[in-house]
Amino acid sequence: GAGEPDLTLVSAIEAAARALIADEARLTALDQAVGDGDLGLNLARGAEAVLAEIDGYRALGRSAVLRRLSATVRKTVGGTSGALYAVGLMRAAAVAEKPVAGNALWGEALAAAAEAISRLGDARIGDRTMLDALLPAAEALASAGADPRAGYAAAVKAAASGAAATAAVTSRRGRSSYLGERAVGHPDPGAEAVVVWLTAIGQVLGE
Ligand code: ADP
Ligand code: MG
Ligand code: MG
Repeated sequence: GAGEPDLTLVSAIEAAARALIADEARLTALDQAVGDGDLGLNLARGAEAVLAEIDGYRALGRSAVLRRLSATVRKTVGGTSGALYAVGLMRAAAVAEKPVAGNALWGEALAAAAEAISRLGDARIGDRTMLDALLPAAEALASAGADPRAGYAAAVKAAASGAAATAAVTSRRGRSSYLGERAVGHPDPGAEAVVVWLTAIGQVLGE
């Protein structure tokens, strides 16, 4: 059930944190092109804090793990992403109370996170934000059927094409909106970051 330890989830979180640390320089460069260049550092700082406490996640159920993760993200990840991810993770934690984990539950959790992020940030699909990767990934995972490998493959593919598509649009939200047409040709860094952590999660949960 949802209250039992979920070591697969902890491994997935650990993989996501390591992937964000490994990609810090690339995410920084992407945010330098259209923003203030702090996204790589913001996310890597949060990821280091998560790795430092990850052993404490191993005794917790899914929902408690995600609540802890949300609290740590809120305290350690700066910028807009920190606030948005903290809220998204809290909503995902509520969905994670459901008894049976799998593609349907995690798809619903991603969708709930995206909805909360959309509400807090007043952004929608096509606004050139992390939602352009998160929302298609949530839909793909929720509608993938039961096989985790196929589910995460579909989710990662949807996130990657959503993130790539952000390079073609001007922004209405976040710092890149100040650039207008000059952001065109550069993908949204927050959407690219979603692809980074989701790919890492998929490699663990899709095994
Ligand atoms: P900051 O602009 O505060 O430095 P970060 O660098 O932490 O923010 O994160 C930037 C990313 O956050 C953007 O690339 C975008 O994906 C996402 N973002 C920014 N504003 C919003 C918003 N209003 N709604 C959803 N996502 C947003
Ligand atoms: Mg930034
Ligand atoms: Mg900033």
